[in-house]
Amino acid sequence: MSMHDDNRLRERIAMFGKSLFDRGLTMGSSGNISVRLDDGGWLMTPTNACLGRLDPPRISRLDGEGRLLDGDKPTKESFLHMAMYGERPQSEAIVHLHSTHSVAVSCLPGIDPCDCIPPLTAYYVMRVGKLPLVPYHMPGDSALGDAVKGLAGKHSAVLLANHGPVVAGKSLEAAVYATEELEETAKLFLLLRGQNPRCLSDEQVAELEARFPRD
Ligand SMILES: [Zn+2]
Repeated sequence: MSMHDDNRLRERIAMFGKSLFDRGLTMGSSGNISVRLDDGGWLMTPTNACLGRLDPPRISRLDGEGRLLDGDKPTKESFLHMAMYGERPQSEAIVHLHSTHSVAVSCLPGIDPCDCIPPLTAYYVMRVGKLPLVPYHMPGDSALGDAVKGLAGKHSAVLLANHGPVVAGKSLEAAVYATEELEETAKLFLLLRGQNPRCLSDEQVAELEARFPRD
């Protein structure tokens, strides 16, 4: 990847970070974004950085082993991204947020841990699909990385219990859009809870999955 492309990607990470922050999908210094580079390394948002005010040159660049090459120290949650990339060679970007409605769903009793949100809309099925719940672990616990790794091969998005979603995509845009779709569908799910909503049928979901395969 040329230096020019690298700079452009840094700017796009900052642009999407600001967009997510400005709309309240992330707050404080929580949330992180990463993008896979052609040389096998990654760009990753720095530790303690606010996604609303990222300085592109300070975004961390890591080599294929996860060592810092330039920029600030990467997010302490980089292991979540690495766990996901390790199982998903087709994924080029990952977004992890503590977005309110998704976190709310992750705290609810009685949700299906294999599929936290039912298929309420076609776009949710197309962009997210089945969303498994990863049991709660303390931040930084390496067992959390192992738990994500166990699910990431089959799922492009997972929901960390009492924490938030980790979402992979085949491009930075795709990962951001899938994260937004997840957050909005979590909001719908909460609005409809207890009202026995009509969901898409198994047949309708199968039809979407055949027509619009996710990566
Ligand atoms: Zn987190």
